[in-house]
Amino acid sequence: MMTQTTDSTTQRPVRTRIAPSPTGFPHVGTAYIALFNLAFAKSHGGEFILRIEDTDQTRSTAQSEQMILDALRWVGLDWSEGPDIGGPHAPYRQSERADIYKQYAEQLLDAGHAFRCFCTPEELDAMRAAQMANGETPRYDGRYADLSREESDKLVAEGKPYVIRMRVPAEGICKVHDMLRGTVEIPWAQVDMQVLLKTDGLPTYHLANVVDDHLMEITHVLRGEEWLNSAPKHQLLYDYFGWEMPTLCHMPLLRNPDKSKLSKRKNPTSITYYRDAGVLPEALLNYLGRMGYSLPDDAEKFTLEEMINSFDVQRVSLGGPIFDTQKLSWLNAEWLRELPPEVLKQKILDWASDSDKLTAIAAAIQPRIELLSDAVNWGGFYFQNLPEITSEDFAHKSLTPEQITELLQLALWQLETLPVWSEHNIYTTLKGLAAHLDIKMRDFMAPFFIAIAGSTSSTPVMNSMAIIGADMTLTRLRHAVDVLGGLGKKKLKKLEKQAAELPDFLADA
Ligand code: GLU
Repeated sequence: MMTQTTDSTTQRPVRTRIAPSPTGFPHVGTAYIALFNLAFAKSHGGEFILRIEDTDQTRSTAQSEQMILDALRWVGLDWSEGPDIGGPHAPYRQSERADIYKQYAEQLLDAGHAFRCFCTPEELDAMRAAQMANGETPRYDGRYADLSREESDKLVAEGKPYVIRMRVPAEGICKVHDMLRGTVEIPWAQVDMQVLLKTDGLPTYHLANVVDDHLMEITHVLRGEEWLNSAPKHQLLYDYFGWEMPTLCHMPLLRNPDKSKLSKRKNPTSITYYRDAGVLPEALLNYLGRMGYSLPDDAEKFTLEEMINSFDVQRVSLGGPIFDTQKLSWLNAEWLRELPPEVLKQKILDWASDSDKLTAIAAAIQPRIELLSDAVNWGGFYFQNLPEITSEDFAHKSLTPEQITELLQLALWQLETLPVWSEHNIYTTLKGLAAHLDIKMRDFMAPFFIAIAGSTSSTPVMNSMAIIGADMTLTRLRHAVDVLGGLGKKKLKKLEKQAAELPDFLADA
């Protein structure tokens, strides 16, 4: 155990956090940021905590929160305070802290650092449209900023809905310090009068984040580069409250091999996918630890403990690190080769025996097997990463390879947007798409059997998709499109247009 060191400026014990929003699958980017927060805290003998930022009630789900907690635990990033284990600053779920934020928003209002804005959604849309028509960047024009408190109270008494916005300087430059970038200058003119409290009385990310980092005594915030532009608002809020701001560190974004921002359109991004494909948690952490970072001895393979022991945030380099699944597989192989066979055997068994999945697979193959050994043939594909397929496997009596590629791509896009991954939603989407394209369901589904199971004689494919999960399904569909030769730029554009015009099959069902 390291001796505890303190934040040099303030002598506060180091505390960092990961603050995921539970709005989707557990993203490798979340594990990446969590890893660096944990390494930073532990290397200073400090604490690493977890807070759930679920202020966006329309997008946050309990299912997503659970998956994120499970995935972070699986990968081996343990927190010492969090919604599941409590702690001195509980609750650690923002939806349970609404009263706290409200009180702080009102404090800003009373001090004149914030104001009520009574714009209706229509008014805001019109403002936006007018600004766009003038070639300006859309932003709030400050129309309620100078309303007197009496006027404002009167409108509240009349029952007019409002939000609370923060004031920002009209001009000048905001200077924020970043551990990796030094002083970053952002003109105030680029900073919007951010909504802090919404009409429903719930906070936005900015208010809740600042209030919680303060109350939870966070000393250092390591977070994705995409938040750098929010730093001026946050700094201003700390100033308004008279609180000491945590030291900021904006980490470089993970990228696809083609340098674009890592996205599930091009790469699997869910931690659960990598778990299901058979990556060891130690290897995944090791790989994430090499994203824009290296150990002093340039070791390729290292443990979390080794990373912590030599951790120095100044070694993070800002060039966008490439998350390359092939390199990850290579590194995973290095880890596997070193295991005694007995240990490897146990790891394989543990990996394969994820009990819910195994029960679902057993149910799916039950009508088809005569001997237990038949389970290998009927059930093998569930455990695979990508099935071994060629373009000939897709040959179909009434659909051309081009049609097949297009329908797979359209289905892929549709499935990517499913709010909940379930057999029912998959079925509704694919059935709707088949009808829309005027292709018989039986013909339409044939390529999916190849893409997912590698064969047309397999267990019901939509059930298989539900069992193997969203990311694995999408990865296999993407692979199928590639195997079929992909779509040229022109065709892709045309198809994108077609996709944009598709109805919402779930809503219409
Ligand atoms: N809830 C934010 C996210 O999902 C946290 C950003 C931050 O660390 O401040 O990324």
